[in-house]
Amino acid sequence: MYSQSMYQLGSKRSVIRETFEYGRKRKAEIGADKVFDFSLGNPSVRPPEIVNKLLKEIIDEMEPTALHGYTSAPGDPATRQAVCDSLNRRFKAGLTPDFIYMTCGAAASLSCCISALCCKGDEFIALAPYFAEYKVFTEAAGGKFRVAMPDPDTFQIDIKNLRKEICKKTKAVILNSPNNPAGVVYSEKTIKKVCKLLKDKSEKYGHPIYLIADEPYREIVFDKMKVPFLINYYDNTLVCYSYSKSLSLPGERIGYVAVSPKAEDAKGLYAAVMGAGRALGYVCAPSLFQKLVARLPEVTSDISVYKKNRDILLGGLESFGYICVPPQGAFYLFVKALEPDAYAFCEKAKKYELLLVPGDDFGCPGYVRIAYCVSTAQIENSLPAFKKLIEDYKNDRS
Ligand code: PLP
Repeated sequence: MYSQSMYQLGSKRSVIRETFEYGRKRKAEIGADKVFDFSLGNPSVRPPEIVNKLLKEIIDEMEPTALHGYTSAPGDPATRQAVCDSLNRRFKAGLTPDFIYMTCGAAASLSCCISALCCKGDEFIALAPYFAEYKVFTEAAGGKFRVAMPDPDTFQIDIKNLRKEICKKTKAVILNSPNNPAGVVYSEKTIKKVCKLLKDKSEKYGHPIYLIADEPYREIVFDKMKVPFLINYYDNTLVCYSYSKSLSLPGERIGYVAVSPKAEDAKGLYAAVMGAGRALGYVCAPSLFQKLVARLPEVTSDISVYKKNRDILLGGLESFGYICVPPQGAFYLFVKALEPDAYAFCEKAKKYELLLVPGDDFGCPGYVRIAYCVSTAQIENSLPAFKKLIEDYKNDRS
């Protein structure tokens, strides 16, 4: 007999994957340019030219057994130093390399942090709308998953709701900004309120409540938005980062955890993250890509494409009458479904070959996510379909 909970996870595809697979079939049937697939958060912008150039240089320069061999379990020392230097340069974070743990992307970073923190009976709170895998990682670690609903008008954090969810069993709050799926960036004012709340509650319950900052979209922000670096706001913070989105390298599986040196028993906490990486089989992130990111810690792919897509899509949809959450970062648009059941709405959208994802799995029923990390041509060509879809609903009502 095998684990039934793992069977459930493995045999049931997420609604995002379901929609993507439907899109693949549909494209084979009617042609790729006729299907408006907005399901996956796979960056559409190419990695910067320098990525391939550096990869070739690294392959040519390095002795193959050294390049392709195991690195130290927490990561190559030079890579950890480069990541640390970059964070200190940009955010004056006071980090040292012994608080950086290289991982296989943000998913691994999150799993390691949650498993490192989770003791029997612990609860983890996600701020809706949230990346659906948080629940999977929390439950796999043996924790209880809880959700704090957002301010329904702005999709910023609702402090009252968060306060209600925190209890003595709370181990951590998972905060993702810029946010998937709402595209919002939590303001510094909001972050300060969250930190104050967590500090007060930690004191009240006599143990730290940690902040897990999930930041794969940190650099993808528009209109000069600033993303507060949470280690500078709250001592008991663990940052989960990934190069999947900023460098358009999601298939290469590379990222890191940065543990705040000011966290309670920071060295012990870092050791627990390393232990979780070991227990989960994540030690030694991909060697070639560790070498790569060491050489370009502050380079990103061309973010301006996402801003252009956002402007065209948001402008178009709002002009047709859709209610949208204006995105300040990442590459997702959260839109109010035109009927209460977002699944039913997504099914109707398929009539116009629009592939959208219901918000239910992100903790916000009644909304849909549009991943606009696609070609600008797809955005432009899809607008008439969005227009027909809303007209259908208007006509139904009349
Ligand atoms: N966190 C969020 C909010 C995401 O959107 C994603 C991926 O889409 C991840 C984590 C996982 O990222 P990675 O590909 O680096 O594992």
